[in-house]
Amino acid sequence: MEQTFIMIKPDGVQRGLVGEIIGRFEKKGFTLKGLKLITVDRPFAEKHYADLSAKPFFNGLVEYIISGPVVAMVWEGKSVVTTGRKIIGATNPADSAPGTIRGDYAIDIGRNVIHGSDAVESARKEIALWFPEGIAEWRSSLHSWVYE
Ligand code: UDP
Ligand code: MG
Repeated sequence: MEQTFIMIKPDGVQRGLVGEIIGRFEKKGFTLKGLKLITVDRPFAEKHYADLSAKPFFNGLVEYIISGPVVAMVWEGKSVVTTGRKIIGATNPADSAPGTIRGDYAIDIGRNVIHGSDAVESARKEIALWFPEGIAEWRSSLHSWVYE
């Protein structure tokens, strides 16, 4: 089953959005497979966002991500990468539809509350980076109520 890496960024934690965000993924029917509150250092944040290292906003982005604890999660389910991105909304909250997390809870692109992997392959890399200890092995008893 497909997995994605979802991170509630420091602003989402500080603003008390953790429960709300987890609830949206839970209520959709996705399964929580990994979860931790963690403050990462600069080299780690630079590694997570290595693909963006040439961008003018890279330093500010790294400062933002290391500014406080984040909630790192692995969610599992059918098409969870693509659907997770839809639940999150467009990168710039000004373009995120109401009903999405960024559309409902964010204003500025540099304080957009949440990260979600953009492809199955990047999800695999991000899960390996953030959860080197591995993730939980369990199957939700709701499985047959969510999938036909
Ligand atoms: N970002 C920014 N300014 C920009 C573009 C991106 O501060 O002009 C930040 C923003 O927090 C975004 C993150 O960099 O979530 C990663 O950018 P990406 O293009 O991967 O967007 P995402 O995948 O998070 O939607
Ligand atoms: Mg991205």
